[in-house]
Amino acid sequence: MAWRYHGRAEVDPRRPSPFGICDRCGALENLENLRWQYQYAGVGLVNLQLLVCAPCMDVPQPQLTATILPPDPEPVFNARPEYYSVDEIDYLTDQNGNILVDQDGKKLVSNEASENFSDVPSDPNNGINPPNSD
Ligand SMILES: [Zn+2]
Repeated sequence: MAWRYHGRAEVDPRRPSPFGICDRCGALENLENLRWQYQYAGVGLVNLQLLVCAPCMDVPQPQLTATILPPDPEPVFNARPEYYSVDEIDYLTDQNGNILVDQDGKKLVSNEASENFSDVPSDPNNGINPPNSD
């Protein structure tokens, strides 16, 4: 009796089982030996709808999982943050770092909060505001 080529599939005349083609390598296998290929997508695994043989089965790449950030810390009750934008005085400068002045010789400030000062003090750092200078 002539047998058709059956690749890696095992043939048992007393217990016949269907054959299947691996979606990756094209090898002929018993259908029961082919497995669904899964891959990470988002927070879980997704079936790629590929039936593959054991040598072709890939381990899902953990790099494709979504990064789950820890929750934000508990907010502080009655917080009193420093209003840095109100406290700072930023003068407008040109590309060379020279402070711009108006036609009366008054230094120009960069934000409205700085304009609300009744008397803008002279800048001791001459336009450069190093952090923690107080
Ligand atoms: Zn295969």
